[in-house]
Amino acid sequence: MAGEWRTAASGATREVLDPADATVLAVVAEGGAEDADAAIAAAHEAFGNGRGPWPATPVAERAALLRRVADLLRRDREELGLLESRDAGKTLEEGRVDVDCVADAFRYFADLVAGESGGRVVDAGSPDVHSVVVHEPVGVCALITPWNYPLLQASWKIAPALAAGNTVVVKPSEITPLTTIALVRLLVEAGLPDGAANLVTGPGDPVGARMAEHPLVDLVSFTGGLASGTRVMRAAADTVKKVALELGGKNPNVVFADACTTAEGFDTAVDQALNAAFVHSGQVCSAGSRLIVEESLRERFVAELARRADRIRIGRGTDPGVECGPLVSAAQLARTEDFVASALAEGAVLRAGGERPDEPGLADGWFYRPTVLDRCHRGMRIVREEVFGPVLTVETFRTEDEAVALANDTEYGLAGAVWTADAGRARRVAGRLRHGTVWINDFHPYLPQAEWGGFGKSGIGRELGPAGLAEYRESKHVYQNLAPRPVRWFKG
Ligand code: NAD
Repeated sequence: MAGEWRTAASGATREVLDPADATVLAVVAEGGAEDADAAIAAAHEAFGNGRGPWPATPVAERAALLRRVADLLRRDREELGLLESRDAGKTLEEGRVDVDCVADAFRYFADLVAGESGGRVVDAGSPDVHSVVVHEPVGVCALITPWNYPLLQASWKIAPALAAGNTVVVKPSEITPLTTIALVRLLVEAGLPDGAANLVTGPGDPVGARMAEHPLVDLVSFTGGLASGTRVMRAAADTVKKVALELGGKNPNVVFADACTTAEGFDTAVDQALNAAFVHSGQVCSAGSRLIVEESLRERFVAELARRADRIRIGRGTDPGVECGPLVSAAQLARTEDFVASALAEGAVLRAGGERPDEPGLADGWFYRPTVLDRCHRGMRIVREEVFGPVLTVETFRTEDEAVALANDTEYGLAGAVWTADAGRARRVAGRLRHGTVWINDFHPYLPQAEWGGFGKSGIGRELGPAGLAEYRESKHVYQNLAPRPVRWFKG
């Protein structure tokens, strides 16, 4: 913080564990409220009421610095991809792809601010008035991120916040802080002024909680679970901070039988249903964890899905040929097991997985087999709540209306997909889904230039796209009277 790497004020440290075997990967500072206070004070001073070195840096130079960060990310791609793979348990290829996406986010926001005109002239209805709306940074932004995509989620916040001229305090998940530490080092290497980006490692409570309530923080952007998100919103209320929340999802993947009339169509829909549910062992906010399949297709589809789920190669993310890594923590594994047990007790039928793997070498890690649960329904906890593990539930429908009703029957609204060969139906269903992202005949892709976020309890606000930059800005209307005269409202 403030351009200096420090130990925690208390001297405390935390061991960061490798989810593949529970060994210690690294030891990091375990910050507390005092460290959050110091980082916030540094960010506040560096912001300098909008006149500090970073907010006062011309936009073109800010954009150039963000592009340098993107170049440094590409330079360190292998190292960062490996670190992300080991820390979060994802495959090495996923780690590398994450680094590419992070670099893309930095480039996107650099280009977005560099291409702006610097304000919008508003017609005030008089030639004697010059009226313009300009955008200014919000101030000190507290950025709190989860463990599933540590580097990616950090970049979706850090890149737009810095592009807009804010100063930031970043708090990564205490479970996976390593790549965020590396990213802040790259910001320093790229030449970011001292105090513009500050990092505090440590637990949600007290570090994140302190950031959310602190009077010198102007905005809190949080990505994580629903329970923590509501706490953040409450903590931010007393000081009327701007709040952006990216929370969970219970995302439907709707498959109509007409998408599977050809062998190729069937193969694609099954393949993508596997990808939707099991990539990164299902620890994805937009995971397609609810398969909603047309009744006439169910048996054929689920049989093939289960057959292929059983063949997914589980192991340490860095080992060649591994397709699914471990869950991130012992707690996440226990949670997954608990959800599956409750679903089976409520009548779900196990078609694949439902247990830890027994392959040699995996006993010490937090592994769980990709699991398919058939004959699920809305009454089951597993259909309503986010598991965040490699578990897919299957529900069926007979009509288009029923498919839409099931897909929307969630308190979340992050993402969903519809598979159909009927273009009209595709557009109709997509139009009726109450989710922030809808894929037609695809699952998972996102674009830095398209907004990401959720309806309902999936959150407030948007990341990425122009709205993802607007989150980090205040609009200011400057109205200039070029020919001032008395208004004579008061006659005396
Ligand atoms: P989490 O809520 O446990 O933690 C997220 C972050 O918040 C961590 O840094 C944690 O330390 C911090 N935190 C915890 N309690 C806090 C508090 N009271 N005040 C302030 N900060 C606090 O979530 P997680 O388990 O790390 O991540 C998984 C969740 O994140 C899932 O629900 C997933 O859906 C969600 N997620 C959403 C998106 C999205 O784009 N919508 C993306 C990734 C993850």
